[in-house]
Amino acid sequence: MKIISINAGSSSLKFKLFEMKDESVLASGLFERIGIEGSNYTIKYDGNKVSEQAEMPTHAEAVSILLNRLIDLDIIKSLDEIEGIGHRVVTGGEKYKQSVLIDNKVIKDVEDCIELAPLHNPANIIGINAFRKALPNVKMAAVFDTAFHQTMDPVSYLYPVPYAWYEDHKVRKYGAHGTSHMYIAEAIAKELKKDNLKVISCHLGNGGSISAIKDGKCVDTSMGFTPIAGIMMGTRSGDVDPSIIPYIMVKETKNASEVLEDLNKRSGFLGLSGISSDSRDIEKGISEGNERCILAQEKYVRTIVNYIAQYYVLLGGCDALVFTAGIGENSAETRKRVVEKLACLGFKMDLKANDVRGELRKLSTDDSKSLIYLIPTDEELMIARETVTLVKQNA
Ligand code: ADP
Repeated sequence: MKIISINAGSSSLKFKLFEMKDESVLASGLFERIGIEGSNYTIKYDGNKVSEQAEMPTHAEAVSILLNRLIDLDIIKSLDEIEGIGHRVVTGGEKYKQSVLIDNKVIKDVEDCIELAPLHNPANIIGINAFRKALPNVKMAAVFDTAFHQTMDPVSYLYPVPYAWYEDHKVRKYGAHGTSHMYIAEAIAKELKKDNLKVISCHLGNGGSISAIKDGKCVDTSMGFTPIAGIMMGTRSGDVDPSIIPYIMVKETKNASEVLEDLNKRSGFLGLSGISSDSRDIEKGISEGNERCILAQEKYVRTIVNYIAQYYVLLGGCDALVFTAGIGENSAETRKRVVEKLACLGFKMDLKANDVRGELRKLSTDDSKSLIYLIPTDEELMIARETVTLVKQNA
């Protein structure tokens, strides 16, 4: 069964075509600058790469080019081979606790959630509509980044604020990166051949979140009402005292959105180091003795360790601590520093094993109280798996 995973942004469209028999990737690619001058795309398949400029005033042209190219590059013989399309949808609010097949009602519900993800959900809908037009008979699934976190109980998802904010305005913790955390939960269960596990999943990328997972279900997660909350990130502050916002509004004559933009785009690694949002630049700065880079890294590690310790207590222990995403998969230094600070909980890293990038590996010593793993995440594959399940259920 061939399935396409789609991640549509406001001016981009990422795709991966899978043969689900063996979960192999037949093709992947990116369409960029849709609706902007200089639109272009790249498709990779079978060791080849095609990169071209093309007129793409809307996502519809990108979809049409993609489908045509799949045929003329001989990646598939006919569009009939595509049996399902899975769409990443950033938020399904409280309505969707799992992935669903897309119909008009689902699209309306995703539209109703726009105010919870004003930048992302509209783009996801544009992607969905473009494929609906191009392939009206193919089943499509919406895979929500928030769905995995819907198993949290009210003690985890409610803020201690006026209850009416939740009832009237939907203010609560929704979390993010749910598809990645779900992938990790499944992957570690498969690796350890055990379902009833206490797992702390650390998705450390440019954005980052940590989830406490029990028996495959999310118990708590560090991102909140929006993805600015939780640990420190590339450009995002993570948790801060909210009274900073009105204070800076007055001091810098800004409005609330402008200050929020500072917290979203000019904070985190970038804000503290003054150099870069990229952890590779921070590591380089540290090797050159840059004090602000040293500080930024210390703060980053502190916020991660704080959440791990919190979730260790919440779960009543931890069978496996898992690192994933850009930094989690590639930065041995970050992993080492985090685990060093967890020594009092009995976590012990095998430093030789930790000298690794982007491959599934056990990183803990045999006498570590909890297992430590690196597991590369694969959100696209998770989307494709969810789509297969729904397509088969509704065949
Ligand atoms: P996004 O949240 O945009 O999906 P990614 O998961 O791709 O982000 O992660 C991007 C982050 O991964 C960047 O901060 C980048 O510096 C970091 N990263 C990638 N490779 C390395 C590496 N070799 N060492 C340290 N950090 C790395």
